[in-house]
Amino acid sequence: MRIVLLGPPGAGKGTQAAQLADRYGCPDVATGDIFRANVAEGTELGRAAQEYMDRGDLVPDDVVIAMVMERLAEADCTAGFVLDGFPRTVNQAEALDRRLAGLGSPLDAALSFDVTEEELLRRLAGRAAALHRADDAEQTIRHRLEVFAIKTRPLIDYYARRGLLVSVDAIGPIEVVTKRILDELDGRRG
Ligand code: ADP
Repeated sequence: MRIVLLGPPGAGKGTQAAQLADRYGCPDVATGDIFRANVAEGTELGRAAQEYMDRGDLVPDDVVIAMVMERLAEADCTAGFVLDGFPRTVNQAEALDRRLAGLGSPLDAALSFDVTEEELLRRLAGRAAALHRADDAEQTIRHRLEVFAIKTRPLIDYYARRGLLVSVDAIGPIEVVTKRILDELDGRRG
């Protein structure tokens, strides 16, 4: 199964990505986690990404695309993958399409997480308190939601035009949302 997850910060992509990776037996590739690990280790990639992440801005496309293409070339991704946090721009989506077309293994679905802005702000405030993520501070959260609306929301149309879009109501208990997703994906495959 090759899927990408689309949705604003706080939509629950990370939580569901883990469930889906488990279910389909493929890796969960979370770009935010890869960047945070690199920042923690002080790598060159981490240094390139940190200032953007702290501001709530997107890391430049060339940096992200190179990183994801390298990750997808690893052996564990041949069976499929759940991409969480990529693509976030049309440029990134096009790069992914080119790579997968070259491999003859296109995406199976782009899952879009539907959540109201009110619910997002509530969840992100809770996460900021619990995890101490620098980018979960309130003004940064607002900025990240704007960045999502401007740069990433166009991907919903992008994938809809390609017949890959699966929209899921992402409000409700975790396991209920997981079931909605699996039902939709199984329905498409069946
Ligand atoms: P979120 O909670 O917004 O889903 P993530 O953990 O996925 O956050 O990502 C955290 C930060 O990492 C983003 O705000 C951005 O700075 C950077 N990042 C992650 N993925 C990408 C990407 N595909 N393109 C650009 N920047 C990215």
